[in-house]
Amino acid sequence: MRSFSILLSLLFLIAVSAACNSQGQVATTMSEETATVENNPVAFKYDPPAEAGKVTTVDESDDYWRENLSSQAYNVLREDGTERSFTSPLNDEKRAGIFTCAACGLPLFSSDTKFESGTGWPSFYEPIDAAYVTQDEDVRYGMRRVEVSCARCGGHQGHVFPDGPKPTGLRYCINGVAMNFAPATDLGIELEEK
Ligand SMILES: [Zn+2]
Repeated sequence: MRSFSILLSLLFLIAVSAACNSQGQVATTMSEETATVENNPVAFKYDPPAEAGKVTTVDESDDYWRENLSSQAYNVLREDGTERSFTSPLNDEKRAGIFTCAACGLPLFSSDTKFESGTGWPSFYEPIDAAYVTQDEDVRYGMRRVEVSCARCGGHQGHVFPDGPKPTGLRYCINGVAMNFAPATDLGIELEEK
């Protein structure tokens, strides 16, 4: 009987370690994808305007973006694509810091205004500066939505909906692959930890 229960324990341990391994593989795949995105030469830039609130637009060629963005980032930023929900590591990013446009480095959102929307996409109740995003009516796919783009490079970020929390009542639903995250400590700025 004793050896039977030891055998059961062993089987259980093997099952648990197999489950851990498969999760480990998922994690590895995700970090590889993240690495691809983060290795973009354009990405990882933190490039606020020389004068706060004043954005100078840039107009790069399609070839430039194809060369400098990962295929996922290109699809979202330049072709108005949408990433699969719950796939971006930025959805669970809880540290204090700044979310920048993955294409041009413009700071778009702060951790101060990030909230858990349950949608699987990083969500904010307002941008860092209204001048840093453009908002346009989007009537594609039989829906009437408001598209949010980077005001500097025109990169598609996501949409804004009127069902967010206080104080604005807005929900900026943003594709994680369209942004990069810079921790406040790396930038030498102080933001409240959430
Ligand atoms: Zn941009």
